[in-house]
Amino acid sequence: MNVITNHMPTAELQALDAAHHMHPFSTQNDLAARGARVITQANGCFLRDSEGAEILDAMAGLWCVNIGYGREELAEAAARQMKELPYYNTFFMTTHIPAIALAAKLAELAPGDLNHVFYAGSGSEANDTNIRMVRTYWAEKGQPERNVLLARWNGYHGSSMGSGSLGGMVGIHSQGGLPIPDIHHIGQPNWWAEGGSMSEEEFGLMRARELEEKILEIGPERVGAFIAEPVQGAGGVIVAPDSYWPEIQRIVDKYGILLIADEVICGFGRTGNWFGSQTLGIRPHIMTIAKGLSSGYQPIGGSIVCDEVAGVLAACEFNHGYTYSGHPVACAVALENLRILEEEGIIDRVREETGPYLKEKFESLADHPMVGEVKIVGMMGSLALTPHKDSRATFASEAGTVGYMVRERCFANNLIMRHVGDRMIISPPLVISKEEIDLLIDRARLSLDEGMAAVKDAGLW
Ligand code: PMP
Repeated sequence: MNVITNHMPTAELQALDAAHHMHPFSTQNDLAARGARVITQANGCFLRDSEGAEILDAMAGLWCVNIGYGREELAEAAARQMKELPYYNTFFMTTHIPAIALAAKLAELAPGDLNHVFYAGSGSEANDTNIRMVRTYWAEKGQPERNVLLARWNGYHGSSMGSGSLGGMVGIHSQGGLPIPDIHHIGQPNWWAEGGSMSEEEFGLMRARELEEKILEIGPERVGAFIAEPVQGAGGVIVAPDSYWPEIQRIVDKYGILLIADEVICGFGRTGNWFGSQTLGIRPHIMTIAKGLSSGYQPIGGSIVCDEVAGVLAACEFNHGYTYSGHPVACAVALENLRILEEEGIIDRVREETGPYLKEKFESLADHPMVGEVKIVGMMGSLALTPHKDSRATFASEAGTVGYMVRERCFANNLIMRHVGDRMIISPPLVISKEEIDLLIDRARLSLDEGMAAVKDAGLW
């Protein structure tokens, strides 16, 4: 076989890809028929494809490239660590400097008494850890029956057996025998889609109180934890009404259940603070981290755990861990990423300057005839597409048809903006400049115009 390089014609690369590469969350035959776009390079907020197009990546990869592409320092940190100690485990009474240094740094950055880190290779793995950790914690406290975890419909926590069960994605539950036992879901705080005639505040309270109802239905003595994303990401960047989180906090406090904040997207500056829990004013016992921890330059995730839970677990052997838990190269790269986020004041700039600028520009899209609700926190935002704003109507076509059409126009206009159903979402690198934000908004508006024309041509409106 020929050596495969980016000098090969795109069609050949696409044919090899279709023949041998099984893509996540894709219908392989449809993708093969179209040919996957081949991304060859990236710098800052821009990707380059095999045809030489420059694409503005308003999703930061998969919500992860917080410091932007092409930072030499991270490549150098990886190379240094690979030469010094490319791998060693932390299972059998050994440790190493990158794992120590990163854990200490995370304990410093995390709020409250979240002082202990259990490493994983991804967000899914970290949430699997959390399920076992919560159940082991309660068992060690003499309450093994407290093994139920509560989560939310349309939440996303990963796609492994455990994390996919915590998530409330029916598409995931419908394949492969999920959810695993003793995981239950409550409704999501998505007022636009599900709020009916209630005010946002009433609806937020109602949805939070579903947690209390579920606890009482199952029995408070059986419920170990509640997990949620501070802002739902993959579910469509759903920002809860202001009334929601204070009520959730009241309920978890009242019943003494553990609160797990899944910070895989919200962590490391995405919402304008180090963690989404700080932006939303919640006090988790465990935080799930991944993605922005290394800005996606290396696969790494983990759980940051409070003193109480870590203290109880410390007395037993926790029979859990991954070959790549605390991988030295991933830890070294993550540390360098955190240094850059901190020393360059990137999160402060999101909070004080570029975040408010993006908010103003993004909210200006609300005047578009097809845009209903616009939500944005820091550098994550969403637009609900609708044929009729006042009634918050949905399109008659199957959910996602119109979103997909707009996404296609974005793709053609060299803007990566995703759709979740008929919601368009963005999550750009945190280093995006004001000029790049203007470009993002111009391309988004053009794509909305073209998408609307296509929707009308197709008779969907
Ligand atoms: N939790 C959340 C909130 C996520 O958004 C994701 C990934 N999108 C995950 C967990 C799973 O992370 P991973 O894909 O690294 O397993």
